[in-house]
Amino acid sequence: MSADRAPVNISAVRTGPEEEALVLEVLRSGHLVQGPMVERFEAGFAAVSETAHAIAVNNGTTALVAALEGLGVGPGDEVVTSPFTFVATLNAILETGATARFADIDGADFTLDVGAAAALVGPTTRAVMPVHLYGQPADMAAVVGMADRAGLAVVEDAAQAHGAEVDGRRVGSFGVGCFSMYGTKNVTTGEGGVVTTDDDDVAARIRLLRNQGMRARYEYVVPGHNWRLTDLQAAIGVAQLDRLDAITAARRANADRLDAGLADVPGLTVPHRAAGRTHVFHQYTVRVGPEAALDRDALIGRLADVGVGSGIYYPRLVHDYDCYRDHPRVVADPTPVAARVCAEVLSLPVHPGLSPDDLDRVVDGVRTALGA
Ligand SMILES: *Cc1c(COP(=O)(O)O)cnc(C)c1O
Repeated sequence: MSADRAPVNISAVRTGPEEEALVLEVLRSGHLVQGPMVERFEAGFAAVSETAHAIAVNNGTTALVAALEGLGVGPGDEVVTSPFTFVATLNAILETGATARFADIDGADFTLDVGAAAALVGPTTRAVMPVHLYGQPADMAAVVGMADRAGLAVVEDAAQAHGAEVDGRRVGSFGVGCFSMYGTKNVTTGEGGVVTTDDDDVAARIRLLRNQGMRARYEYVVPGHNWRLTDLQAAIGVAQLDRLDAITAARRANADRLDAGLADVPGLTVPHRAAGRTHVFHQYTVRVGPEAALDRDALIGRLADVGVGSGIYYPRLVHDYDCYRDHPRVVADPTPVAARVCAEVLSLPVHPGLSPDDLDRVVDGVRTALGA
C-alpha cells in the first residue's frame, strides 16, 4: 500500500521560470492581446510544424472550426471523421453547420481506417478529419492519397500530437492542422489553439475570421468571430515550445519504460507504434482484453488503491449520447472496432513529471493487480 506517498497522477501541468519571465514581460509591455508575443508564438509554432503559417486562436475546438470555415466547409457539406475521439472533434463539425459521419478505426493504432473512410465518401463530402489520437499520428500517406482521389480537404485533429511525425514530416503539415494548448496537452497555454497550413488563401481567411472579419481598422469583409489569443497565453506557449523536444523525449522514454514492464502481462496490450510514425504519447493507453485477470473497472479500482491514477479516454463512441442520437446532422454508421476499443482502453500516467520510481509504481500496480 502507498497511502503514505503522493499519488501518481494521470496528468500534471508544469511551467517554469521561463514562462514566468515571459508572462511578466507581456504584463509590463501593456500589449495583452494579438500583439508581438502572439506573433512570436505563431512563428515558433510554424517552425515546429514545418508549415508556412501558424494562426493562434483561443482554443483547440476553435482551431477545428476555423480550419473548416477557412476551407469553406458549412451547411450541406459532410465531414468524415473518427468516432473514437474527444467530443470537440464532433462539436466543431456541428458548429460549422456541416454534417458529421464516422468511419471505423484501426484496432491497433486507434486512428482512422482509411478504407472505411473512403467508403463513406459521397457527393456532399468535403473533408476528411483524421485524429492523431493519444499522440499517435494517423496513416497520413493513406489519408492524403484517399483525399486527393476523392477531391477532399484534409483537416488534421492534432490536438494531442504536437511534434509527432509521419515519415519524418510533422503532423499539421499534411492538411490543415489543428492543435490544442489546453492545460493538460503536450504543449499548454492554459487555453489556446493553433491552425497550421501551407495554403496562403486558407491562412488569410482564417486570420480574417479570427478578428471579426476585419481587414483594416473597421473594414469588415466577412462576418467574423472573436477567436483571438492573448499575449499572456502566447508567452506561456513560447516557453513551452522551446521545451517541446525535451517534453516529447521524456514522454517517449516514459512509454518505453512502461512497455518494458508491461509488454508480457496476459490480457494486456501495450500501445502500438506504427512504422514510420513518431508517437508523442499524449496518453499511454493499453487495452484490457477479456483474457486479463481483472476487468477494466476492477483494475482501475486496484490502481487507485495503491495511488496510481488512470483514465478512460474515451468510454463511449463520440456520438453515443442522447444529445446526438436524433441530431439531424449526425450520421452514425456502425463502427464495431471502435465500439470494442471503447470498452477496453485504459490510459496510464506517462507525463514528463514522472520519476523512474513513479513509473515503477505504475508497472508494479498493474502487474500485481493482474497477477503477472
Ligand atoms: C483537446 C482536444 C480538442 C479540443 O481542444 P480544446 O483546446 O480543449 O478546445 C479537440 N480534439 C481532441 C482530440 C482533443 O484532445
